[in-house]
Amino acid sequence: MLSFRPGAELPYAVILLASLSGIGCSDSSERNRSAELPPTFSGSDGTTGDLPLQPSGGNNSATTPGPAQLERVLVFSRTLGYRHDSIGAGIAAIQKLGMEHGFAVDQSEDPAKFNDATLSGYDVVIWLSTTADVLDDGQQSAFQRYVEAGGGWVGVHAAADTEYDWPWYGQLLGNNAWFLQHPMIQTAQLDVEKAGHVSTAHLPARFPLQDEWYNFRANPRSAVNVLLRLDETSYLPGDGAMGDHPIAWYHEFDGGRAFYTALGHRVELYTDPQFTQHLLGGIQWAAGL
Ligand SMILES: [Zn+2]
Repeated sequence: MLSFRPGAELPYAVILLASLSGIGCSDSSERNRSAELPPTFSGSDGTTGDLPLQPSGGNNSATTPGPAQLERVLVFSRTLGYRHDSIGAGIAAIQKLGMEHGFAVDQSEDPAKFNDATLSGYDVVIWLSTTADVLDDGQQSAFQRYVEAGGGWVGVHAAADTEYDWPWYGQLLGNNAWFLQHPMIQTAQLDVEKAGHVSTAHLPARFPLQDEWYNFRANPRSAVNVLLRLDETSYLPGDGAMGDHPIAWYHEFDGGRAFYTALGHRVELYTDPQFTQHLLGGIQWAAGL
């Protein structure tokens, strides 16, 4: 199983105190630690390495998304920087969604999975709170080909804290909306912008949620369809306040489908049906359903 490195995460009280005192500790959390900390995981993920039995097929078109099906997903959670305590809960939640909705879930932290043959077996690849530079150039090229062939990408939370030096990834994410910093964990009001989407249809038009709210380096709105927006007047967004503040979105990109939600820092969210349904909807949309 996964080995979590003890002490990787500052106690919440420390972050809270530092944030309240204006030290700017929030700046030092995920991004900076992503750059500073050594790898913490060797890639032994317990999977067999066998090729998937149910290739998604249809990955031969460079211009249109692949066929609508959701048979098998890969959850990729490699971290070379900050490692979220919630990764284990996230994997478990997606496995549960798979059992309930009839799709297989493979999990790996091995970047070698990012080759044409292996990726072609997945309808969606979920980047679950990955951090830092997780793929080498050849693996990046394979993943780009996968998306161009109609593959689906779901990015969760720190997926925006990943691959800062890969311009294509910034566009996949949406207008280079990489993680900038975050204030203390707190409750904010979220407004649903696209209520008809499969990832938001179950949500009230406006709802409160406690999580760690990312500020982004750029506003993705010009490149994506915004699903959820934070009301910055409802919490303390900190130095990176954006004004217009998308927090979950999707777009068709480079032949494939990309869905990103910044929700998902807290362990508790992964047993919250509102959030897991949001995540399931993102996976389903990315699969073309
Ligand atoms: Zn976080």
